[in-house]
Amino acid sequence: GAVVHWFKRDLRLTDNRALSMASEKAKKEGVPLICMFIVSPQDYQAHFTSPARVDFELRSLKIMQEDLSAKDIPLYITTIEQKKDVPSHMLEKFQEWGARHVYCNIEYEVDELRRETKLVRQCLWKTISFEAVHDDVVVPPGILMSGAGKQYSVYSPWLKAWIRHIHEHPHVLEASEPPAQNPPNARIRFASIFDMPIPSAPPNKSLTQEERDRFAHLWPAGEHEGLARLKRFLDEKVGKYKDARNFPASNSTAMMSVHFSAGTLAARTAVRSARDANTVQRLDAGISGITGWISELAWRDFYKHVLANWPYVCMYKPFKYEYTDIRWEYNEEQFKRWCEGRTGFPIVDAAMRQLNNMAYMHNRCRMITASFLAKDLLLDWRMGEKYFMEHLVDGDFASNNGGWGFSASTGVDPQPYFRIFNPLLQSEKFDEKGEYIRKWVPELAGVEGKAIHDPYGRGVGKQAEKAGYPKPMVEHKASRERALERYKEGLGRG
Ligand code: FAD
Repeated sequence: GAVVHWFKRDLRLTDNRALSMASEKAKKEGVPLICMFIVSPQDYQAHFTSPARVDFELRSLKIMQEDLSAKDIPLYITTIEQKKDVPSHMLEKFQEWGARHVYCNIEYEVDELRRETKLVRQCLWKTISFEAVHDDVVVPPGILMSGAGKQYSVYSPWLKAWIRHIHEHPHVLEASEPPAQNPPNARIRFASIFDMPIPSAPPNKSLTQEERDRFAHLWPAGEHEGLARLKRFLDEKVGKYKDARNFPASNSTAMMSVHFSAGTLAARTAVRSARDANTVQRLDAGISGITGWISELAWRDFYKHVLANWPYVCMYKPFKYEYTDIRWEYNEEQFKRWCEGRTGFPIVDAAMRQLNNMAYMHNRCRMITASFLAKDLLLDWRMGEKYFMEHLVDGDFASNNGGWGFSASTGVDPQPYFRIFNPLLQSEKFDEKGEYIRKWVPELAGVEGKAIHDPYGRGVGKQAEKAGYPKPMVEHKASRERALERYKEGLGRG
């Protein structure tokens, strides 16, 4: 016999609910634990997974394989081209290994749940038990209900309920035991699945050597790095987080989203560690940087709860149904300028170039660029949502969809449609000295003072033009009016 843990977006040994349960079961039954991971190119394609993210996953896998091997636990890794073949391949392996119990952590997206349903059915027929558990979120979806007994669709009362739940049920933050050492015969019995080669990325998701080096440097992979970053952030930065988090040049956020997204660090581990670093054992009192950071991490849970409760958000539909009929533009040329960071709005261009270079963008800038796409350009927000997924190393369906819905005013608890970011004011407020712009838009590096925010409007147009920086592609005031009209028209209020 054997017990199997199936790794997905939980690429760690530390504080991993399903892995811990699988290990315990194996110990109890006196059989070895086998781990598996399936690379599914079709899934990468269907979910617009970025090459940077695939690369991060594969690098993390290598590290995890070594850590498992030190415990005599094999990691079976294979590539399955067609996602429909994943369940039957897995079942074949379960039977080959004589596995009677399979564990995994739940993913809440519709496609993943469908795949799991298929797998459960196949396991049932062969009397293999299949257990999927909540791990990705701190509080499982479906527990927090408003007074009317419904899922919250507004963040702030939801946050109160989330915090209350954790205070009343502190065990949700408890760490899971790491997996135990396998019995010595595991190495002999399963020799063929030890040290399997880590597959390379599918051709349409692979990086150039230069990109590989750049991302390996920017985003060191694996759980040890995730834990080390957490510790560094809590030791050195969290105190200033609340005041500084909105300023993209301040380097004051944790830069840990890729770890939460790939599961090289559990959100639970982060919230627990933050609470333990606080002056009181609470999530809503004590050091403001800590409570502020926890409330940002809570957004991640919030959007996953939204996804779990309203799965239609996975189907290209706006959360707010009444926003279905907005007439979007589909201007490819304008979209291209946005993607490449050539809009003529320095803060927008800096942000898009950060994304294209680092596979990451600061949160304030994600809001600015998303709002610019949906409101100033009136491009379908789903074009931007997809572009983000295709480029972000931390791409996560729920958070990305939630962030886009917020900015386009079509999502859950959104920015009201008539509140339209003014890119110039955002730039002056959040990048006052223009440091972020100068870093990412070299054409403007020589522009001094406030002109950096609007070179053509502030007398340095010639200098900008000479350096090859484009003129603004739209006029904000006019595009704002157009957006208001279109939204009203779509809502039938025109
Ligand atoms: P910190 O400020 O240090 O926050 C800590 C953690 O809290 C983050 O790592 C993240 O896991 C979580 N978090 C913070 N803010 C949010 C938020 N608004 N929504 C959900 N979780 C949050 N985040 C992703 O992880 N993946 C995405 O694909 C993604 N797409 C986004 C798209 C848009 C349009 C917007 C507005 C936001 C998006 N975010 C996304 C949320 C946020 O921008 C990033 O999580 C954050 O910038 C990551 O940097 P950090 O780790 O330094 O964050």
